[in-house]
Amino acid sequence: MEPVYPLQAVLTPEDPPVKNSRMPDEEPHRIADGEIGRHSADNGGHPTNEGGHPTDEGGMAEPHGAFRRALAEWFERVKRPLPWRETSDPWLIWMSEVLLQQTRVEQGLPYFEAFASAYPAVEDLASAELDDVLRLWEGLGYYARARNFHAAARQVVRDRGGELPCTREDWERLPGIGPYTAAAISSLAHGEAEAVVDGNVTRVITRLFRVDADAARAPARRLVDRLAQELLDTSDPGRHNEAMMELGATVCLPRSPRCDACPVSAWCQAAAAGDAERYPVKKKKAPTPHYTIAVGLLRDASGRFFVQRRPESAMLGGLWEFPGGKCEEGEPLAEALVREFREETGANVVVGERVACVKHAYSHFRITLHAFLCQLDSGSPMPATDLPSRWVEASGLSYLAFPRANRRIIDALTSFPGPWT
Ligand code: SF4
Repeated sequence: MEPVYPLQAVLTPEDPPVKNSRMPDEEPHRIADGEIGRHSADNGGHPTNEGGHPTDEGGMAEPHGAFRRALAEWFERVKRPLPWRETSDPWLIWMSEVLLQQTRVEQGLPYFEAFASAYPAVEDLASAELDDVLRLWEGLGYYARARNFHAAARQVVRDRGGELPCTREDWERLPGIGPYTAAAISSLAHGEAEAVVDGNVTRVITRLFRVDADAARAPARRLVDRLAQELLDTSDPGRHNEAMMELGATVCLPRSPRCDACPVSAWCQAAAAGDAERYPVKKKKAPTPHYTIAVGLLRDASGRFFVQRRPESAMLGGLWEFPGGKCEEGEPLAEALVREFREETGANVVVGERVACVKHAYSHFRITLHAFLCQLDSGSPMPATDLPSRWVEASGLSYLAFPRANRRIIDALTSFPGPWT
């Protein structure tokens, strides 16, 4: 790799450390505050300054100009053709941002196509039932996003007559739209000069500048936000943001970054130091907890199954589920299920055959879910809170929105011998 002159971060006393990647005995290369470092003399013919270092075209450096151009040229060459890149319609851009957060493009694309087809305008989503929205969302996780998207669409129709916001501040007034989403929509749809900082961009920035602080904590996050804003190409912020995200998603990978294929490697301190995988710096995580859960598939005399709805404010809020809960340390599964069923619904059940054993990982814990057929022993199931519950035919389970782990139980149920198959 050719020698590197790193990007210069303009730091304040509160900022966490940014490492200098040059060797201690190397002649320092002085760059004005706010100007980025540039290619070496062996830079493939770029104009150079008196010291043999290349400048931006025209001699005087436009701060970060060469970096931005290298990024933009690369992006135009390699960008993946995605439907939300073919449009400037803020509705579709908003939809794509909501659906693709913390989701790989390949996973999110079919959801985008389904939502764009079901809800071609904000009014269509606003008038939809939340149950239908959650059903379409099923499998994507982070269900609060679906509920917020639905609530925000209703707010736009109710308070703005269906007219979408066009500034970052107005976007942030809608439920579920934080700084990241607001910056993304306002830059992509309206050309506002707002840098987008998602996980991919954080990785790129912390490597470019070797930000030596826990990227999950506020001081490092503020610094990364500021560096991203400094690098932003204000002549085309939408394209610049997409290019940074694409770079993180396809080249600056968490493990084994492809520095030899990177359009901005000449500006990258971590690539120069050979320690890119060290960034972003992360605090050592505590081991992920694991819970064993027993759930009951209770049937009534006509063969319908009992399901209840999770509270809106809870994790997976608004989705349907089979009653059950965590096993205590050393508690047999059947005993735990009888206890949990009674606590949740007031009914006593007799535990029958096991239909499924499902392992599932959430962001902060893992579960193993054991699902048993049950019969009513005494009482009548009524959720302990005011939550909706209902008896549903096996075939009707496919019309309700369930968490993914419950859906796998339903899939197992359909092939389990019984009158419902
Ligand atoms: S891919 Fe390599 S050179 Fe490019 S930004 Fe990431 S670490 Fe730096």
